[in-house]
Amino acid sequence: MTNKSNLWFEEALLPSGWARNVAIAVSDGRIEAVRTQIDPGPADDRYGVALPGLSNVHSHAFQRGMAGLAETRGPAGDDFWTWREVMYRFLDRLGPADVEAIAAQAYMEMLEAGFTRVGEFHYLHHDIDGGRYTNVGELAERIAAAADLTGIGLTLLPVFYAHSGFGGADPKPAQRRFLSNRDLFSQLLDASHRAVASLPGANVGVAPHSLRAVTADELEAVVGLAVDGPIHIHAAEQLKEVEDCIRWSGLRPVRWLLEHMRVDQKWCLIHATHLTVDETQRLASSGAVAGLCPTTEANLGDGVFPAKEFLASGGVFGIGTDSNVLIETAGELRGLEYSQRLTLRERNVLGPSEGDSIGGALFRSASTGGAQALGAPHLGLRAGAPADIVTLDREHPSLIGRQGDALLDAWIFAGGGKLVETVWRNGNRVVEQGRHRKHREVTSHYRTVVKALLSG
Ligand SMILES: [Zn+2]
Repeated sequence: MTNKSNLWFEEALLPSGWARNVAIAVSDGRIEAVRTQIDPGPADDRYGVALPGLSNVHSHAFQRGMAGLAETRGPAGDDFWTWREVMYRFLDRLGPADVEAIAAQAYMEMLEAGFTRVGEFHYLHHDIDGGRYTNVGELAERIAAAADLTGIGLTLLPVFYAHSGFGGADPKPAQRRFLSNRDLFSQLLDASHRAVASLPGANVGVAPHSLRAVTADELEAVVGLAVDGPIHIHAAEQLKEVEDCIRWSGLRPVRWLLEHMRVDQKWCLIHATHLTVDETQRLASSGAVAGLCPTTEANLGDGVFPAKEFLASGGVFGIGTDSNVLIETAGELRGLEYSQRLTLRERNVLGPSEGDSIGGALFRSASTGGAQALGAPHLGLRAGAPADIVTLDREHPSLIGRQGDALLDAWIFAGGGKLVETVWRNGNRVVEQGRHRKHREVTSHYRTVVKALLSG
């Protein structure tokens, strides 16, 4: 039996631009037809403003459970590396059921924020003592189960992680839950494919963790396993990482990747914060996506991505919630633009030309770049795409009297986090009036799990 619905919107952001009086026919999870300038039919469900669902290119779902736990000042000089110690301690307690409950909470919050797809950079593979689970895909299956429960679209990116520093340094005990060799990684990759097989629209890529965690040979081997999935890697997030990379190879991390790998549209470089002008231009012309995570990068004190130069060179970016310290769509986009304003002491930086709406430019870039980064370039409000649709609350004070891109400007810069009203994912209405249909169930389970984790 086919499952059909007819939706009608006052305004919708289509690949060709804003349109009014838009009817979208949905059949079996896909957009069957988009018609504009049409009156609503008597059986149509009517809504205000429709946007395509955004892709969240970078998440470590389990870190949602430690959000806010690393905000106390230590004895001296807190930075990314001291945050990482808190994260490692949190991992000392996390079992498979905990991972699933925390991921479900994170994915539910993503949907409520307007993300309809997530790239899960999945590096937690083994048991608490570092031993293998009987089922090597145990935790991949937990991630898939959380995606299934909440309905979010999943790009699963199993991580290859083997070393604690450049040049193949031995891993540290705290990294025991992440580690692979090539053989084990092949098994994890197969298990990842099996884990997502029944999820609509899911796919699998590969994620060599960073140049700190893989050798050149391992990187080549892992990239070779990507087949038609995307390739994600952390790069140049921290200055120490850049300095260590230069000490190891004479080159900065992004430069090293551009010189040694065929970096192209299949690649997504996560963060890419510390770039020279030359690296910025070459990364932009490679066609790879820069996976920017402005909230986490600010939280961790990483630095500021040179977005103005990157976009001027034709670069493509997506946004990610990374540590999931706060899950927002508008907040990530706002953070990106504000980081540029603060460092350049200018306003309205990331619009390509005069007269461009900044909110519109940010949303469109994140939308197309995000879809590319997750190996799902067909996304958008168009016939044949999955029906991943987000509406904004037309009656919210910040949106009154706005149309077209002015709606995006108002949402991103003036709306706060609660303007998303209804979300369809693969044709299913999973969020209504800003709340996921399973909100109570998911949060109640999450509450029990996190209380137990933090009580000991
Ligand atoms: Zn990350």
